[in-house]
Amino acid sequence: MPDTMVAARASEKTGSAGTQAVDVAVVGAGFAGLYLLHRLRKAGFTTVALEEADDVGGTWYWNRYPGARCDIQTIDYSYTFDPELDRAWKWSEKYATQPEILRYLGFVADRYDVRRDIRFGTRVTAANWDQGAERWLLTTDHGAAVSCRYYIMATGCLSSPKPPEIDGVKDFKGEVYFTGRWPHNEVKLAGKRVAVIGTGSSGIQSIPLIAEQAAELTVFQRTPNFALPAHNGPAPADRVALLEGDSATYREQARWSLAGVPLPQQTEVSWQLSDAERRERFEKAWAAGDLVYMLTQLWADQGVDVDGNALLADLLREKIRSLVKDPATAEALSPHDHPFGSKRPCLDTNYYATYNRPNVTLVNLRQEPIKSITASGIRTDKRAIDVDAIVFATGFDAMTGAIMAIHPITGRDGKSLSDVWAHGPQTYLGLAVSGFPNLFMITGPGSPSVLSNMAVSIEQHVDWVVDRLVAMREAGFTTIEATEAAQDGWARHMADCATLTLHRLANTWYTGANVPGKPQGVMPYTGGVGPYRSICNEVVGKGMLGFRLKGPGVAEQCNDGEVVRLQPDVRLVLNMLEEMKLPAIESLGAQGARDFVTEFNAGRPAGRPVGEVVDGTLPGADGPLPYRLYRPATPGPHPVVVYFHGGGWVLGDEQSDDPFCRDMCRRSGMIFVSVGYRHAPEHRFPAAAEDGLAATRWIAAHAAELGGRPGPVLVAGWSAGGNIAAVTCQLARDRGGPEIAGQLLLCPVTDCAVERPSYTDNATGYFLTRALMYWFKDLYCSPADRSDPRASPLHGKLSGLPPALVVTCEFDPLRDEGVAYAEALTAAGVPVQHIEARGHFHASFTMVDVVITGVGGRMQMADALRRYAGLPPERKQGDEGLRPGRTASPHEINAAAE
Ligand SMILES: Cc1cc2nc3c(=O)[nH]c(=O)nc-3n(C[C@H](O)[C@H](O)[C@H](O)COP(=O)(O)OP(=O)(O)OC[C@H]3O[C@@H](n4cnc5c(N)ncnc54)[C@H](O)[C@@H]3O)c2cc1C
Repeated sequence: MPDTMVAARASEKTGSAGTQAVDVAVVGAGFAGLYLLHRLRKAGFTTVALEEADDVGGTWYWNRYPGARCDIQTIDYSYTFDPELDRAWKWSEKYATQPEILRYLGFVADRYDVRRDIRFGTRVTAANWDQGAERWLLTTDHGAAVSCRYYIMATGCLSSPKPPEIDGVKDFKGEVYFTGRWPHNEVKLAGKRVAVIGTGSSGIQSIPLIAEQAAELTVFQRTPNFALPAHNGPAPADRVALLEGDSATYREQARWSLAGVPLPQQTEVSWQLSDAERRERFEKAWAAGDLVYMLTQLWADQGVDVDGNALLADLLREKIRSLVKDPATAEALSPHDHPFGSKRPCLDTNYYATYNRPNVTLVNLRQEPIKSITASGIRTDKRAIDVDAIVFATGFDAMTGAIMAIHPITGRDGKSLSDVWAHGPQTYLGLAVSGFPNLFMITGPGSPSVLSNMAVSIEQHVDWVVDRLVAMREAGFTTIEATEAAQDGWARHMADCATLTLHRLANTWYTGANVPGKPQGVMPYTGGVGPYRSICNEVVGKGMLGFRLKGPGVAEQCNDGEVVRLQPDVRLVLNMLEEMKLPAIESLGAQGARDFVTEFNAGRPAGRPVGEVVDGTLPGADGPLPYRLYRPATPGPHPVVVYFHGGGWVLGDEQSDDPFCRDMCRRSGMIFVSVGYRHAPEHRFPAAAEDGLAATRWIAAHAAELGGRPGPVLVAGWSAGGNIAAVTCQLARDRGGPEIAGQLLLCPVTDCAVERPSYTDNATGYFLTRALMYWFKDLYCSPADRSDPRASPLHGKLSGLPPALVVTCEFDPLRDEGVAYAEALTAAGVPVQHIEARGHFHASFTMVDVVITGVGGRMQMADALRRYAGLPPERKQGDEGLRPGRTASPHEINAAAE
């Protein structure tokens, strides 16, 4: 619709006298508010934006402190909705300064003529949903109230500065500044004694410049932060060439990337690289001066695994030591309390070197806390430091601060947002809240927001919201509200995503930990920009899944449900497999399928190192069988686990579950002996079952020779291997040994004779299909053999079996027969632990280092094996809280992590 027509549209004149009535009210005129105004006006909605500041810019209006810059390269931190705009504006630097970004936002406001719809100097103080009129009424501190059908909060994630929590601020007689509310007139610090309190991004950016002016600078640091040199200058030529060469592709890649910057995903893991290779990558990243590069491009496990992260953190601390001359100061500046990236790292220019200046002193508040601010300065518990000016760089009440500052926000049935969020923010997609119809948030808690290039996230949110409003108008709907089920599902998905990253291990403003009394939990969506975008699209594709839409004269629409029920990494893996358009394995013939699996496995991450890997042969039921032994690096002798690989009795070999065996060997501290049993169709039932017993007997008899602990062995297996493990326990009981101390049955086949509902629920789309299982069973055993307990252990006698851990996955055709086996074992008096892994699929636990959310399950498996073997549990830092099957809220996850 042309703009002239848009302007001519009449607004809904339902407001009373003194009230401004519009279709849509926007609060905030930063990056988000400006783009909203442009899109809404183009779409034909009457709008007004209410902005507390006197001009546009948001963050870049308020944060005028010395050194204020963006920390995402400016060519990426720009609007992308209009290629003409991209061409019309040229950034002068790799990381633009605050004045330049503010000029850019002013330029955008003028170019799209949005200022005329903004009421500056107007703070929204309260918002109430009028159920009868189906409109929001916004109260302001200046001018008319606003009545609107839709209320969109573009109030910013980092726009509510956190007040200092120190006694006596008002007593101070000198100058006081807040980085987040820096004066517009020039601040003269030259020749003065200055204190900076806080070493987050604003502190780290401003300290070097303040140090250059001040006579003396004292920095008060509570928590050290990782900072990387920005190496500012012109935008890197390679990036500019990419953008200018094909800006559409460049921008599209950013939209589907993890962080909103077009960088590829790193696939090599840290243990695949030598020390020298890791150092080389690190030095390259250090020289690049790019936060997102350092956060994502070194090795694949740096952001998800404590050990992989520690390798990087050590290198960063080494840099700090090399830059800061005084060892005690260097140590005080070195973070040890959080994994790199779990707290937002900073980009700096000369930050660490600033501490080598004679006029700069660091006060470590961990060692000498501030007692109070006095008339003349700051008193710690060790000394009094007199200063002329104090700069508070104490950060923000992030993500929820500006939303909650509008109080009350009263939704349907008089619900107050502050009550609904009393224990932490609850949202659907970070965009909407159940009970608050027609309210949207841009970059609200639950969206990728601050964990992304915000420019990209803001555009996606705005486009999604405005497109929905347009679609609703066309369909005749006038209200939209998220359902509780959808919102609860989003909380679960958020928690699942949070277990994937290391954010749960840090106390940060991402988790609300910087504000006393604020509920704790990972607030931004940690699943990434691209996955988030695809989920938002899926919501639309599934008929606005999780939203209730109503309108006069149209039937109510509500497709209720959870948009993501899979674990986030399982979803990614399954999407990737779908995109690969792999052939149906059963269509390849036995040998073709084996070749295919070998090739497929060649592309997976290498397993982690163990103490020793030994290949050998052992006598099976009818001839020699290969085996591979994995020995822990710890001193032995270790208990021995006999392991049977997956592959439907047809595929795989003693090496095919290599990453799983390595991981379990490391976690359990036990020897794993993976047995290459005979395969169908060359060797049909009961060859595999008989080999299982024969191998277990030989390994038990030769445990000491293998370097293992003599005595009972344990058995474990996945899928058809789980079947063999279960059968081996029954045969060993009935045929005179060996003694088995415990069994681990991972997604086992327990019943070849009966098909249960999980075969239908999960028939396709989850890697192991019903058709493939039919094929496996047909190749392995004839229908007449299928109720033989050696094929279907569920049909056997179950009493007197060793204790069992049975693991079943929600999206697995084999789920129900695993559940049935766990229940039947329990009924037969066998001690059973059953893990029902929510959101997981058949290969979740064996795709080690691909399905990271499988870690918790393998931890429990290792615990169980150790328990069966009489060993105490073992814990690795960072593993706590990673439990499958439980539906913890993000808040719980964080509390557990702490
Ligand atoms: C120093 C600094 C550097 C940053 N650098 C980057 C970066 O490099 N890359 C990146 O992606 N992000 C960065 N960010 C995050 C930044 O906040 C976002 O990128 C982006 O500017 C947010 O835009 P916004 O419109 O959502 O919110 P804001 O820019 O915060 O604008 C919100 C506006 O809403 C107004 N407002 C709030 N409440 C009310 C109310 N009740 N009534 C009226 N008006 C109200 C505020 O006054 C404000 O102007 C940075 C943040 C800071 C503080």
